[in-house]
Amino acid sequence: MKPVNLLGFDRAGLIAHCGQMGEKPFRATQLFRWIHQKGATDFAAMTDLAASLRSRLEAGAAVPAMTVLSEQTASDGTVKWLFDVGGGDAIETVFIPESDRGTLCISSQAGCAVGCRFCSTGHQGFSRNLSTAEIVGQLHHAEFALRRRLGLAAGNRAISNVVMMGMGEPLQNYAALVPALHVMLDDHGYGLSRRRVTVSTSGVVPMIDRLGDDCPVALAVSLHAPNDALRDELVPLNRKYPLAELLAACERYLERAPRDFITFEYCMLDGVNDTAVHAEELLALVRSAGKPGRGLPCKFNLIPFNPFPASGLKRSSPERVRAFAEVLQGAHIVTTIRRTRGDDIAAACGQLAGEVQDRTHVERRLPHAPIHIVRNTSGTPANSRPGEGVA
Ligand code: SAH
Ligand code: SF4
Repeated sequence: MKPVNLLGFDRAGLIAHCGQMGEKPFRATQLFRWIHQKGATDFAAMTDLAASLRSRLEAGAAVPAMTVLSEQTASDGTVKWLFDVGGGDAIETVFIPESDRGTLCISSQAGCAVGCRFCSTGHQGFSRNLSTAEIVGQLHHAEFALRRRLGLAAGNRAISNVVMMGMGEPLQNYAALVPALHVMLDDHGYGLSRRRVTVSTSGVVPMIDRLGDDCPVALAVSLHAPNDALRDELVPLNRKYPLAELLAACERYLERAPRDFITFEYCMLDGVNDTAVHAEELLALVRSAGKPGRGLPCKFNLIPFNPFPASGLKRSSPERVRAFAEVLQGAHIVTTIRRTRGDDIAAACGQLAGEVQDRTHVERRLPHAPIHIVRNTSGTPANSRPGEGVA
């Protein structure tokens, strides 16, 4: 019989599992701490557990190491791991060190079924959801590999923040995501603050509501367009959950969120969504959402597009990005421009591609047609390069 992978349990799950072996909850908590606070994978080392429990764990359970295919470090200190998750699929995880924090960008799926036009994961298609053990396994591996590498004293953490911004759409893998978030937040686990764990979504509206009920953490929403016509083209999920529904879900989420704003991500695509007209339209959009007269409390994070060959898209010029930011800042919306990290090891946003056995035949489905000219409310072509091909 295959040993049970203990990385797949949150503490409640581990308590239930150990309960089946006749163990009290505090024993499960001790075990949980060994795994997630000390990085122990060998039951024999867990000296405060009874010998009888240790031998039962050895017989039927394991804390298996992730299979590392490669580990690369960029000149700016960014680290990228490529993990083999079997069946021909490989996923990527990225650590981004900053002076005041260490952020781990975690994958939630092998591939992604949303198929955004500007995302290399989306271009690869979808293979499968990751399990809770595979999501937590990325954090477990990175945290303890970094502690060893940085020579951190016992109890000092390498990772202070987690962003679910790697490969995949986390809210399309909800059942595995929530226990993984519990492990991250648990004081007996990684003890991360809710404000420092961010789920990024392309807008799976019903799951935004469920996340607010089940495990409210910081929320980032990938907006990328100020109107439905353009967003339909860039983020196909918009056809199912259009902007009005998405923004209403954001407003509802704020009631339960650990932060009092939503972060909107906006990938800056040259000539597609980056003009002054788009910025004004975006402003009108967030002002019209939320409570009357208040608008939706939000921040913007502008991500200069990270190109990859198959996209046919280009990065907006730094001047365009700055001008766009100034329109939003002029309306007192906090707007940051994301610095590209790990450029030299293809670890930047949207470049995570791993290796995915596409079971959805995305290449056949992705439209190889140009992005349509999108007219905004003022009648100006919002796409300043009408008809330019993207495929
Ligand atoms: N599926 C989730 C999380 C993963 S993507 C989501 O879409 O939100 C993390 C962020 O990187 C998203 O905002 C995504 O839109 C952005 N992104 C994807 N491809 C990109 C690219 N090529 N250049 C810049 N940002 C990109
Ligand atoms: Fe999936 Fe996010 Fe990439 Fe869109 S941007 S294809 S939702 S991973």
